[in-house]
Amino acid sequence: MNYLQYYPVDIVNGEGTRCTLFVSGCTHACRGCYNQKSWSFSAGVLFDEMMEQQIIKDLKDTRIKRQGLTLTGGDPLHPRNLVVLLPFVKRVKQECPDKDIWVWTGYQLGELDNFQQQILPYIDVLVDGKFEQEKVDPNLVWRGSANQVIYRFKV
Ligand code: SF4
Repeated sequence: MNYLQYYPVDIVNGEGTRCTLFVSGCTHACRGCYNQKSWSFSAGVLFDEMMEQQIIKDLKDTRIKRQGLTLTGGDPLHPRNLVVLLPFVKRVKQECPDKDIWVWTGYQLGELDNFQQQILPYIDVLVDGKFEQEKVDPNLVWRGSANQVIYRFKV
């Protein structure tokens, strides 16, 4: 899996101060996509063990307290990315149990296959659905279009 960007301190992609990873690769091709350069799975750079370690270290950093980790993109739930992210979120939950995990995906919750559903027990918030230009509402929080749904699995 490749990633396009990593923000070790981010306050705009989920609640609180977060570490945010923008993964490469998305096949939804939403009209008006805000991040078309993320569509290619070969964009960006390899997400390797060193990057995993860096994120874990940042999440544990007590100088700037992070509420959690955000995975966005691109699509973190595309099976090609999930192969890498599923073991990673398990690791994050094990090593940083007090941190929450937010995931943005272009799939709807109801259309996730068995493999994609395996990530759900490890994440706290899922924002689902394609970006639909005709349903854009600037007043929405954490989502761009009104068809998207915010699921909070843990409170
Ligand atoms: S799901 Fe997100 S990244 Fe993928 S095409 Fe739609 S808006 Fe762009």
